[in-house]
Amino acid sequence: MIRVDKLNKYFGDLHVLKDIDFNVKESEVVVLIGASGSGKSTMLRCLNFLEWRNSGEVIIRGKDVNPKKDNLNVVRQKVGMVFQHFNLFPHKTVLENVTEAPIQVKRTSKAEALKEGEKLLKKVGLGDKANDYPSRLSGGQKQRVAIARALAMKPEIMLFDEPTSALDPELVGEVLQTMKDLAQEGMTMVVVTHEMGFAREVADRVVYMHDGKIVETGHPHDIFDNPKEDRTQAFLSSIL
Ligand code: ADP
Ligand code: MG
Repeated sequence: MIRVDKLNKYFGDLHVLKDIDFNVKESEVVVLIGASGSGKSTMLRCLNFLEWRNSGEVIIRGKDVNPKKDNLNVVRQKVGMVFQHFNLFPHKTVLENVTEAPIQVKRTSKAEALKEGEKLLKKVGLGDKANDYPSRLSGGQKQRVAIARALAMKPEIMLFDEPTSALDPELVGEVLQTMKDLAQEGMTMVVVTHEMGFAREVADRVVYMHDGKIVETGHPHDIFDNPKEDRTQAFLSSIL
């Protein structure tokens, strides 16, 4: 689904991603871990072209995306993204938040978008909140709306950038459960998170990044219980 070859990204003189090679297969769940500033968000942003790489290739479903030739809005529809801060439209209802992009960007008919939106809200456990405004929702509910909103574009890949980091601890579980359901349905996912329980349980593969490089990749069992690299060990003992 995703193939990244020798990806390099700079912000001015700052070399943020260094020769990254990274692959994600269909239906695979990859959890990206690493200290703050190691380049995880930049990596996700390069995968849906919110950031443009300086060199290397990012191939989505066999297609190398070229900013000059390709319509990035169309490419981005294939790659959904959920952020730490959900950024729902405050003046729109929950259902309108979910149907906005399909109607405006994809030109889906209103009736079809509403039907699909209601289905997605049920799926994330918010079928009864369709007509509420975001301000009436808890943080966990808002994040589940954000997930439904991303799914409304029918992406082939979902990227999550610390989706539970801004939530009160008691609301984290419901969002992780929604993500777990999605993984079990076969969605291809790349998840940046500090929730190591989720990584252990749901990830097919864990990727540890440090200072713009991938230091170690492996099955959660190997990374958490038997890391090969000293750096990985040091990081894990700092957070566990
Ligand atoms: P992480 O998500 O792992 O915390 P980031 O990808 O956000 O790391 O950041 C990696 C490095 O790039 C950091 O040093 C950060 O300060 C820098 N950085 C991120 N975004 C920008 C930007 N838009 N302009 C300049 N520097 C940036
Ligand atoms: Mg980040």
